[in-house]
Amino acid sequence: MTSGGVRLDKFSVGVGDRFAHQAKAQLEACVRASRAGVEVVPVWNKSNREHNLIGSEPSSTRAAADAAVKALHWTKPYYCDADHINLQTVGRFLASSDFYTIDVSDFIGRKTDPSSIDTFVRRHSELVGEIKIEGVEESFEITPAFLLQVASKFLSAVEQAGAVYRRIESAKGKDNFISEVSMDETDIAQTPLELLIILAAAADEGIPLQTIAPKFSGRFNKGVDYAGDVSQFAREMEFDLAAIAHAVRQYGLPGNLKLSIHSGSDKFSVYPAIHSALKKCNAGVHLKTAGTTWLEEIIGLAEAGGEGLALAKEIYAEAYAHREELCHPYASVIDIDTHKLPAPAEARRWSSEEFTSALRHDPSSDSYNSSFRQLLHVGFKIAAQMGCRYLDLLEANQEVIAKNVTYNLYARHIRPVFLGTAR
Ligand SMILES: [Zn+2]
Repeated sequence: MTSGGVRLDKFSVGVGDRFAHQAKAQLEACVRASRAGVEVVPVWNKSNREHNLIGSEPSSTRAAADAAVKALHWTKPYYCDADHINLQTVGRFLASSDFYTIDVSDFIGRKTDPSSIDTFVRRHSELVGEIKIEGVEESFEITPAFLLQVASKFLSAVEQAGAVYRRIESAKGKDNFISEVSMDETDIAQTPLELLIILAAAADEGIPLQTIAPKFSGRFNKGVDYAGDVSQFAREMEFDLAAIAHAVRQYGLPGNLKLSIHSGSDKFSVYPAIHSALKKCNAGVHLKTAGTTWLEEIIGLAEAGGEGLALAKEIYAEAYAHREELCHPYASVIDIDTHKLPAPAEARRWSSEEFTSALRHDPSSDSYNSSFRQLLHVGFKIAAQMGCRYLDLLEANQEVIAKNVTYNLYARHIRPVFLGTAR
């Protein structure tokens, strides 16, 4: 299987832009990466859920990306990702996206036709017994019972991914888009051996996968640092990379198939491990930085002072008042200690400096408040409801906001992950 048409580059970064105002500032970070010696291709991602919460259409993501590319004379590839779509939600993305993150997390563990499990197990006798994976010192034993168990758990999800893939293919034509399968929004991490078996099943389904997003061990909460065992993550990632390379050789998946790391923003403590694993395995990666650009907008507004700071405080007060409903859809990817949330009356007295230092993710700062940050992270709906009031202030303070957006993406993310230099 080849991805003969649209072929995602080795390094790419998923940039979320909730309000479609920062594409240029985000692209500027890729321009800086290029100047520093590494090509990182931007992929503007926005999920159906975000479009619904904001009241936007996928065509606005495409328009913002196209405009930024034109303004900065970007001549390298760029894409628009229909993030976390399924059979019900893919339709509205067919015209304007060329990258599809097919989310099948909900299908993990669902029952499927016993005969398809049986066919899969019989077809893959090479997966039973001692498995040697190039680049991994230990060898592994897969028992028939383990293969059956993994197939029973994941086959329904992979079949669903195949159904969504074929729906996109029939609308867009083979080779005209990038396919990713995501399984990250679930409770239990997939092991590298499970990943290998999942990839064998994806190849059987005929999905020309270019990226796959497993759930890693540890917590990848939205907009804050990794919580878990960093050395275990490092081993797991290297093993995942080896399993992917093995699956490419064994099952003929596209040669550029790579890992996609979701909720990848702000995972500062694992970036050195990611960088060294990529180097060691000569592998690529797609890092989704998702929604933290919106936090840089709030930081920029607060830094601007005056009306900007007042609006940032108002958004916080509203988010605080509606914290339960805002957090609910993101429960598995946030960890807020409500006792650490400042009362809105207290936050209202803060200076620009106090507000931005509580919000800005600087782990070395005593003023940084991860609960405050996470609540605002999921609070973009409040700003969406403000409509023009919010967007007009974004435009009025574009310079200070853009500076924060570009710096955050380039210095805190692209540099440590792709260039391997300290933030
Ligand atoms: Zn995700």
